[in-house]
Amino acid sequence: MNLTELTIIQAHEGLKKKQFSALELCQAYLDKIKGKDKEVHAFLTVNESVALSQAKKIDDFISAGREIPILAGIPAAIKDNILVENVKCTAGSKILENYIAPYNATVIEKLKEQEAVILGKTNLDEFAMGSSTENSAFGSTHNPYDLSRVPGGSSGGSAAAVGSEMTLYALGSDTGGSIRLPASFCGVVGLKPTYGAVSRYGLIAFASSLDQIGPITKTVEDAKIVFEAISGKDKMDSTSVEIPKIQNTKYPAPEQVRYGAGKIQNLRIGVPKEYFVKGIAPEVEKVIKEAIKKYEKAGVKIEEVSLPHTAYALPAYYIINPSEASANLARYDGIKYGHSAKGKDLMEVYLKSREEGFGAEVRRRIMLGTYALSSGYYEAYYLRAQKVRTKVIEDFEKVFKKVDVLLTPTSPFLPFKIGERIKDPLAMYLVDVYTVSVNLAGLPALSLPAGFVGKLPVGLQIIGKPFEENRILEVGEIFEKL
Ligand code: GLN
Repeated sequence: MNLTELTIIQAHEGLKKKQFSALELCQAYLDKIKGKDKEVHAFLTVNESVALSQAKKIDDFISAGREIPILAGIPAAIKDNILVENVKCTAGSKILENYIAPYNATVIEKLKEQEAVILGKTNLDEFAMGSSTENSAFGSTHNPYDLSRVPGGSSGGSAAAVGSEMTLYALGSDTGGSIRLPASFCGVVGLKPTYGAVSRYGLIAFASSLDQIGPITKTVEDAKIVFEAISGKDKMDSTSVEIPKIQNTKYPAPEQVRYGAGKIQNLRIGVPKEYFVKGIAPEVEKVIKEAIKKYEKAGVKIEEVSLPHTAYALPAYYIINPSEASANLARYDGIKYGHSAKGKDLMEVYLKSREEGFGAEVRRRIMLGTYALSSGYYEAYYLRAQKVRTKVIEDFEKVFKKVDVLLTPTSPFLPFKIGERIKDPLAMYLVDVYTVSVNLAGLPALSLPAGFVGKLPVGLQIIGKPFEENRILEVGEIFEKL
């Protein structure tokens, strides 16, 4: 049995039946990391001894005949902007290069309650700003399908780690596509939950009205298991909510799957026409259109719908996002956290610490955001963008009266070459054109492998109504079986 090929359920069953030990499972992944990560560079930190001793603990539980939770002993990798107590948390930035997390993020607490094994922390664009992982201060991650190409971003390390079987699953964060885009580029599944479904406590803040943590996995079922483990109201995050009961079906048995056998005809899928316009790579469009046809052949009703404000979502996002980022990043002053430069007075310490600590993209966002929020420009930029945001939300509300879910490409492009877009920020921002609307509207969305162009994977995006994670997961599971 190849231990790094298993899904969560398979690994869980194998552990319970003592087909292999948690220690063996953990070691198999650590060996894979040793062999592969030199070329992929998905990890920033690997905690071999902590992971192995945690695995040993699970083996003791199992030998003692104790019931183990579904994620017990299952190896995970965590994006390096999510705090794991006593472990370095860099956010991909020089300014936090030596920062040790003083507490666990709520999602980590929840994984630890289930006795998960944390292998290490994964690479990302600095402060999650980017679409390729090239903005990391610690070097780019490489796409496991073609090492000369990007893995997508900003959770590129997490997606590449899952895509090359260096972990069974990973956590990422998604502010404008950072779970879905790398999932698409690395041929894996990524779920961006509804805003508020997962606590943000202990996630290094980027743009607080957009950020969400979510799973990156091999299968849709695995995404469901991890999502159920990490979601729910948290008193440490006032924007988090309990998901309505109907959602908590605990990975439903096939007969409970609402659109399962025989009922697929009840499902109404919308395809927004604005997502298939000039600019999309024809080979990507072809794979996505074929995926949609597969649903149709299975008896699903497909309807063309319109989200008329789609074209304005990207520019609005790139005002709102830097505005919030500029406020959130004010805390890195060389005193409170991380890198502290020497200076003759406090002001010089502030200025030099930020100058030495922040990379180009981070500075760009701080400048853009500060500008958009400044008096005299606020109305023309930030306020305007917020109005567009409302329009984008209304577009979705309207179409979701007619259809249950939307199908779109996750990215208009195939994974591109390292270096191809990094010099041109606008070309990089364009990669996010299909993902940012979902964050502006706070909706859940899934990216799952739809097919290949040559050896490069293409992701299909399934967008749902707020708190209907289970529905998009069901629709994703249907696709896996088509
Ligand atoms: N690429 C987008 C940006 O740079 C999204 C990033 C993210 O989701 N963290 O803002």
